[in-house]
Amino acid sequence: MAEQVIDTRGRPVRDLRISVTDRCNFRCTYCMPKEIFNQDYEFLARDLLLSFDEIERIARVFVDLGVRKIRLTGGEPLLRRGIEELVGRLAAIDGVDDLTLTTNGALLARKAEALAAAGLDRVTVSLDSLDDDTFQAMNDVGFPVSGVLEGIEAAAEAGLVPIKINMVVKRGVNEESIVPMAEHFRGTGHIVRFIEFMDVGTTNGWCLDDVVPAAEVVRRIDEVFPLDPVAPNYPGEVARRFRYRDGAGEIGVIASVTQPFCGDCTRARISAEGVLYTCLFASKGTDLRSLVRDGASDDELADVVARVWAARTDRYSEIRSDATTGLVRVEMSYIGG
Ligand code: SAM
Ligand code: SF4
Ligand code: SF4
Repeated sequence: MAEQVIDTRGRPVRDLRISVTDRCNFRCTYCMPKEIFNQDYEFLARDLLLSFDEIERIARVFVDLGVRKIRLTGGEPLLRRGIEELVGRLAAIDGVDDLTLTTNGALLARKAEALAAAGLDRVTVSLDSLDDDTFQAMNDVGFPVSGVLEGIEAAAEAGLVPIKINMVVKRGVNEESIVPMAEHFRGTGHIVRFIEFMDVGTTNGWCLDDVVPAAEVVRRIDEVFPLDPVAPNYPGEVARRFRYRDGAGEIGVIASVTQPFCGDCTRARISAEGVLYTCLFASKGTDLRSLVRDGASDDELADVVARVWAARTDRYSEIRSDATTGLVRVEMSYIGG
């Protein structure tokens, strides 16, 4: 086992998020707006994507450096052909304690059982509203709420629990869905996580006025279903947790804009074409695919990753300002959430 690496702010590398495709069957307005991601948009060609062999190899290097949690994401990860096979390969790596996947849920009803059988531990499903008009306006491809709910049900039946449900909250778009979402999933064992609309990428027209602060989300729910704060499960947990006082479960809020959590950030990200990013808001990364395809050994790969991590200074959310929001950043659908 290689020595664990710590960055310049004392943070180890613990979580690895791997994007397996930059394509998606949704066009969520906050992530892949149709005006940009249309028929003229050039997605990555197949040979530019990391193969399963390459992903597995890179994942092993990260596990050796201290990674314990792996999350598959995208784009929409369930669009990647043979995703179950990749899950199986990653599940077989010694040292991976938690293997999860984030999906929009559209293909989940069809795939949940195979994913669980391959060794996936849990899923996170994105769902921005229970109201069909609101949800369809947000996914912008007319996908119905019922399709996602079927996916969630199938995942629960397959044992991919507890399921986390991500809801991005955007001012004037779906804030009226906050309380109904909380109500619908109370008592199910699933955990809804309300996410502040973030300024990832440069195409989603982000502005601070569109952000509903997490504190407001908590207040709105607490008024109807009283909540108590809960301590984090582990250092570096992204969501702040709250428990229903009546015992009906818990919710989380991800306040990356109003209450940044860079101090505990132990996440590395690999894009679908094998570029390593040490921050969701990075504008530059390190090309691991070229290293792999040029014949680098595992030791050489580990050396590069360790050096990049050791030099890491990222704390974008803590220093977010007019100066940083003007920077060119990679898109969420490319780097993965
Ligand atoms: N397609 C999958 C999905 O939607 O779950 C996985 C990839 S998606 C980029 C991962 C997560 O990022 C989703 O929960 C999505 O809602 C969230 N996300 C995308 N753009 C966002 C933004 N601008 N602000 C906050 N969250 C965002
Ligand atoms: Fe696709 Fe997920 Fe982005 Fe929506 S948030 S466009 S489902 S990648
Ligand atoms: Fe981590 Fe970057 Fe997000 Fe801060 S802004 S929590 S460093 S990904």
